[in-house]
Amino acid sequence: MTSTAHAARMRFHVDGWDPTYGSSVENAENTIGDSTAKVIPDLELAPADWKPISPSHVPDPGAVLFVDGVRRVEARIWIEQPPAAEPAPSANRADDAQMALCASYAAGTVCCCPDRGAHLLTIESRRGLFTTATNAVDVPTTAGTYQANITFDDQEENLAVLLSAALQRRLGDLEILVAANARTALAGHGVAAGSDLLVVDGPLRGRTHLPRALGLIKSHRTAYLPPDLHAMVSALAAGERTPVFLMGTSWDRHAWYLRLPCTPGAPWAGIVRLECAADIPTPEAIALANLSQLILPRYASCEYKDARAPQNLVPVAGLERELRRRLGNPALLSRALRVAAAS
Ligand SMILES: [Zn+2]
Repeated sequence: MTSTAHAARMRFHVDGWDPTYGSSVENAENTIGDSTAKVIPDLELAPADWKPISPSHVPDPGAVLFVDGVRRVEARIWIEQPPAAEPAPSANRADDAQMALCASYAAGTVCCCPDRGAHLLTIESRRGLFTTATNAVDVPTTAGTYQANITFDDQEENLAVLLSAALQRRLGDLEILVAANARTALAGHGVAAGSDLLVVDGPLRGRTHLPRALGLIKSHRTAYLPPDLHAMVSALAAGERTPVFLMGTSWDRHAWYLRLPCTPGAPWAGIVRLECAADIPTPEAIALANLSQLILPRYASCEYKDARAPQNLVPVAGLERELRRRLGNPALLSRALRVAAAS
C-alpha cells in the first residue's frame, strides 16, 4: 500500500434510509431472554418470610439528582473503502463501502433541592460517527462535527446492533460525566457533600461505581424472581416495595421492586425496579431501598399528563424534552451531512 492511501480523505455518501426506522431499540432497557439470571433473595428477609415492605421514616437527602440521556440516529452513511491490497478470501463485508451511523446524543441532570426546587444542573451533547471502517475520520459539518468512533468488527454480531451498542456506550459515558459534574456543581448551592441521591433513568450497568446511585427500570420483560416471589410484586400496594435481593445477569446488583402511586389497573401498573451496586453492604442497600420509597413517589407523573405515567418521573420527563431540543433540528442536520458528503 502506498502512503497516499493514508493521506486520502474519507469519502462517504448519505443513505436515503429513514433513520427513525427501527428506533424502538432506543428504549431497550432490559436485555431480552435474561431467564438465566441468578437471584439471591434472602438478604433482607428469608424467602419464606417475604412480604411487602411499607415506607419507613428516613431522613430526606440533601438533593435528588436525576440523570438521563437521549440518542438519535441522524443518518446512515456509506464510507468508501480503499481498494484492498489483495482480494479478501471471503467477501463477506469487504465491499467497497461500509455502512456507518451518524448520531446525536445528549445527557443531563436535574437537581431537586429544597432551595431551588427542580432545576437543570448539567447538560452535554455530542455528535458521533459510529463505524467499523478503520479508515473513518471525523466528519465536520455546518451543524457540528461527528467524531469518529471506530468499533472492532468481530464479523459475528449484526452490524446495526454492534453500532447501536457503541452509541449506547458513548451515551452511558456521557451520563457518567454529567453525573460527576452535577455533584461538583452541587457544592455551589448549599447541599452538604455526600447527602445527595443520584437516580439514573435506566439500568445501572457500567455505573455501579457511582456512590449513592440508583438505576430506575420502567419496563419489565423478564421475570427475574422465582415464581412465588414474583407473584408478590403484583400484590404490592402503592408505596410498598419487595425486600432487597441480589441479581446477576452479565453483571451483579442489588435490586427491589416498588409500586409508585397510580390508579389501580393492570397487575404491574406503576411498578418500577430499582438497582444499586452489588458490592455495598446489605444494610446500605436496604437504606437506599427505604430512601427510594420516600423519594420516588413524590415525583411520579400523573396519567392525564404523561402516557408513560406514573413510571416516567416528572423531572425526568422535563429533562428529556430539554435534551431532545439540544440534539437540534433533524432536517437541518440531515441537510448539513449531505452537504458535507458532496463537498
Ligand atoms: Zn439544586
